[in-house]
This record gives sequence, structure tokens and C-alpha cells, in this order.
Amino acid sequence: MPEETIIFCGDGNDAVSPQDFLRYFIRSMIAAACNSDASRAANFEYYLRTGSVADRWFQGLPASMKTLWPDLEAAFNRRWEPQVVVEKTQQELEEELSNYKLESKDLGKVIKVGGLDTHTHVAWAANVLRLAKDAGIAGGSNLIWIVRNNLPPVLKDLEAVKHATWADFAKAVTEAPIEKIREGVEKERVRAEEIALVKSRLQAIEKQQHATKQPVANYDDLTAQMQRLNLNNNRTQPPPARTAPARNQGFEPAANPAAMQGGGRGNIRYLKQPQQPPARRNELTIEEKRAMIARTTILTHHDDTPAGRNAYTTQMQDWTTTHGDIRVNENTPYPLRPGTAIVCSSECFRCGGHGHQSRECRVPEESRLPQRESAWRAICYTMLGPMNRGQAEQVMVVFAEYEDEQGNGEGL
Ligand SMILES: [Zn+2]
Repeated sequence: MPEETIIFCGDGNDAVSPQDFLRYFIRSMIAAACNSDASRAANFEYYLRTGSVADRWFQGLPASMKTLWPDLEAAFNRRWEPQVVVEKTQQELEEELSNYKLESKDLGKVIKVGGLDTHTHVAWAANVLRLAKDAGIAGGSNLIWIVRNNLPPVLKDLEAVKHATWADFAKAVTEAPIEKIREGVEKERVRAEEIALVKSRLQAIEKQQHATKQPVANYDDLTAQMQRLNLNNNRTQPPPARTAPARNQGFEPAANPAAMQGGGRGNIRYLKQPQQPPARRNELTIEEKRAMIARTTILTHHDDTPAGRNAYTTQMQDWTTTHGDIRVNENTPYPLRPGTAIVCSSECFRCGGHGHQSRECRVPEESRLPQRESAWRAICYTMLGPMNRGQAEQVMVVFAEYEDEQGNGEGL
């Protein structure tokens, strides 16, 4: 295959280096069987661009230097000195290696290397191994831990912590299953989005609170709900009577069973709750709020699918294993039942649906959320307010078998 003709200019803009141009010229001479020093010198001119720096240099050379190729070549190399190729130092190579990162955003993607499709982590591992070889450290484990630390968490989780050699490390990264990588990347993406979302909402709420110097609406109502949740921790108590939707904030149906004997609405007493101390979440620092928001997203809220329900069962078991039989508090995030509403979305704490308050919940007791989940939702709301309201996906709880519209306080 004849190669492309190269015409040299010598102005620094040539596609090849001066010395590569010389090699090209010699190849051309050999191909043309032009082997004498005299004929090579005579042909050289025709490989220079007319009027270029190189052409003018050539025209200005004394005839004695243009007669034989070795003289001409030496003159050329004096005019265009061979470039000194700098060998990278060991330190530079190690630095390059330590800074060679694989970004989370690139993980799981397909790229072309040498015209072939490959996954980013596979290409990354190959390059890392090459750099380690260049630096002369591939046979050991020197610096692996630094480079490993630069891996996206998803990938780090998929391969061993320790490796004897760079080849072992590169192999482990290469063999990380792409399905697992993509799954991890997707989870990270969703979580990052959720965190960003709640953060922005929190900031909006803080701004609003700051501007109005008002506690978040429904706070009294919420405090009452919290109290009832605590009172109802003992399940042997009958549930409080349902009442007409309570418009009077600060009033609360009595949770005292004695007040409800007789069953009907007429026997319900209303107790005025003592004024609560100022809204607790106003006392939280921004850091505390952020930490709390983070805790609301620690556990994945699974979809209501067979897989989601299985994962939820595991979460519940994990919670019990970790915490045992304690009351839920702000530091013990509790798994959310699959398919229910997101926390802090003005959802009903009892059933996890929207459209009614906990006190109006018509979901039968046996179908309600676990008490600890109700408590966790209440804690989230108390500390963070309805930060997800408005943007939350609306969840309606449908109970076909429950038709009684009226209710009487004992119907639940
Ligand atoms: Zn409900």
C-alpha cells in the first residue's frame, strides 16, 4: 500500500516531526531503488514545499553540502534538531497513576478502545495496569490502595480489598459484573436525586420559616398525633374514636378508654392539650436537619412488587437484629412498607396513604403499618415538617371491604 506523500515545510506545522520526515524520505528512496548518496541528495529538493522555510533553507545551502546524502542529512539535522524525548520519572508515573480516576458518572458505559466496544471499568483497569508497568511497580501491590480508593463506591464494593499485584487488581476490576455495576449506579443515582430533592425542599422551608418566623402549619396537630402515637404504643388499648374531621387544632380525641365506653360519639370527651414547647425542629441546627434528612433516605423504600416485598422483609429483619425490641427514635430509621407514601408528605402515619389524617384513618387495625413505622413517620414529620408535600407521589389506600361511611368509634 503506497503511503501518503509527505511534503516538508519546516515551519513547525508539519504533520510529522523533521526526523520522521527524514525516515519517510529514505523509505521513498528505497522504494524507488534510489540507493546512491548522490541520487538521494538530488531528489531531496522535491520533497520540500515550494517557497517554504525548508525550501528556502535548501536553496541557501552551499552546493558542497547538497552533493551527497550524508552531508545533506547532517545539515538538515543541524537545522532541525532531533527532539529530545523526555522519559517520565518514576515519581511522575506514580503521580499519574494515583490521579487516574474512574468517575461514577462514567461507570457502566460502553466506550470504544482501538475500534472495539468495551466497558469503561475494563478500559480503566487496562490503563491502570499499563501505567503500573511503566512505573515498574506492577509486580507488587505498591500504591494499589490509593488507586483503589479512587474507584467509585459501586465498583469498590464489587471487588476484594487486598490484591497481591497490579495484575490481580486489574483482573478483579475487569471481572466486576456489568449488571451489578449498572444496578449500583442506578441506586446511587436515585439516592443522590432524592437527597438533592429533600435538601432543596428543606432549604425552601427554612427560608420560609425564617421569613415568616412562623412554625410550620399543623404543628400543634402534629404534636397531638405524636402524643397519641406514643399513647397507643400499647396495642391492647382500643383505638381512639373517629370524630368529625377535627378543625380545631389543639383539640384531641381522648385516648382514655374510659372516656369511650358507651361507644357513641356523644360520649367522647375533648381534652385540650397543654401548649407544647416551641416547635422542636426550629431548635435543630442546619447540620442536625441535614443529618435527619439523610437518615430518612438511608433505607431504600421499595416498590410494591414481589422483589420489593422480599427486600422489605429483609430490612425489617435487619432492623430487629440491629436494634432489638426498642422504641423507634430519630436515630433508628425504620423500613417503610412497600408502595406507601414517602415520609414528610402529609401522609397518614397509620396506613401510609394520602388524603386523610391519621386520626381519620379508616384502615382496619390489622392492616395498618407496623407501630414502629408509624412512629418513625411521625418523628420525621415532627423534625422536618411536610417537606415532601406537594411533590410526593400521591398514594391512596383502597379498602374494598370497608364500606361503613359512618363509623362509630368501635367499628375499627
Ligand atoms: Zn390512614
